[in-house]
Amino acid sequence: MPSLPERVDLLALATPGVRGLQPYQPGKPLEELAREYGIRDAVKLASNENPLGPSPKALAAARAALEDMTRYPDGNGFALKQALSRHLDVAMERLVLGNGSNDVLEFVARALVTPEHEVIFSRHAFAVYPIVTQAVGARAVVTPARDWGYDLAAIRAAVSERTRVIFIANPNNPTGTWLPGAELEAFVRELPPEVVVVIDEAYHEYVREPAYASALDWCQAYPNVLVTRTFSKAYGLAGLRIGYGVAHPDLADVLNRVRQPFNVNSAALAAAQAALEDSDYLARSVALNQAGMRQLQAGFERLGLTYIPSVGNFISFELPMDAGEVYQRLLRQGVIVRPVANYDMPRHLRVSIGTEDENQRFLAALEQVLS
Ligand SMILES: *Cc1c(COP(=O)(O)O)cnc(C)c1O
Repeated sequence: MPSLPERVDLLALATPGVRGLQPYQPGKPLEELAREYGIRDAVKLASNENPLGPSPKALAAARAALEDMTRYPDGNGFALKQALSRHLDVAMERLVLGNGSNDVLEFVARALVTPEHEVIFSRHAFAVYPIVTQAVGARAVVTPARDWGYDLAAIRAAVSERTRVIFIANPNNPTGTWLPGAELEAFVRELPPEVVVVIDEAYHEYVREPAYASALDWCQAYPNVLVTRTFSKAYGLAGLRIGYGVAHPDLADVLNRVRQPFNVNSAALAAAQAALEDSDYLARSVALNQAGMRQLQAGFERLGLTYIPSVGNFISFELPMDAGEVYQRLLRQGVIVRPVANYDMPRHLRVSIGTEDENQRFLAALEQVLS
C-alpha cells in the first residue's frame, strides 16, 4: 500500500464540527473486562440493558428471519410499521424507523440543522444530543438544570431566531428525571412552530408516575414535534439496533429522506414486531425493574448514599469520594457501572437495574469499595 505523504494532518481535513467531537463512550463491554482484568463472571450494569434477556418470541422471530439473510430487508419496514401503527394508534405515514433511536436523532440533525442554527438541550442531558449537533457544525445551547432535571423556562428563554431543534429526553438519561405531560405540552404550545422539538422517550415503558404522559397522547396537534422510542431498553433488543420516531407525516417525510435505504436489518424488523406483541415480556421487564429499583434505593439508603430519584431502568448515585476511583475499584470486583463525568456529573455513577442477584452483587461490591 502506498504510504501517505508525510505531515498530512487528517484531523484538519475534518469539518470544524467533527474536529471538536469526542466519540460517544459506551459502557464497558464484559469481554473487555475479561481481556483487561481476567475477570470472567462479571456483571454489567452499565448500559441500561434489559436484565431478562430477550423475549423468547423476539428471539425466535429473529432466528427465523436469518434464514433469509441473502435478501435485503424490506427498506420500508412495512410489516413492523403496520404493527406499530396498530399498537400506537398512529398512521403509518407518521413513522420513521431507525437503526436504534439514535439513528433517528441523527436524521434530525442531518435533515434540519445547518451551521447557522442553534440546537438547545439541557445540562446533564443524553450524550447523543451534543454529538449529532456538533457533527453538523451547529451551535449547541446548553441550558441550566433544575434539581438535576430540565428547566423548561430556561429552555424557553434560550430560544432565539436561530433555534432549529430542542432535544428533550423524557425521562432523561442519566438523571432519571421526568416532566409531566401537561407541562411539556404547555411548553411546546408556546414555541415558534418552526422550532422542532424532539421528545426522546427511550424509557417511557418504565414510567409509572400518574402525571407522566407520553407525548404521543398530545403531539398530533403539533407538526413540529417528533417523539422517539426504542426497542433497546424495555423490549430488550439493544444488540439488534432498532428504534423509531413518530411525527407529522411531513416531518416524517423529511427525516425519511436522509435515512439509508436499508438502515434496519431483517432480524431487527422481525424481532421488534414479535417483541411488540409480547406484552407478557414487557410486563415482567417493568415489574423486575420496579423491584430492582426498590432494592437499589434501599441499598443506597443503608450505605448512606444520596441518589437522584429515577423513573427509568437505572439510577445515578453520589459518592463521597472521587467517582472515577470508585468505578475502577468496582471493575476490579467484577461490577461494571457507568461513569458520568462526561455528563457534568463527576461525583456520580450510574447503575442500571439488574436482576435481584446482579443488584445484590453490585451493592455488596459497593459496600466493600466504600469501607
Ligand atoms: C438508550 C437511549 C437511547 C437510544 O438508544 P438506541 O439503542 O439507539 O435506541 C435514546 N435516548 C436515550 C435518552 C437513551 O438513554
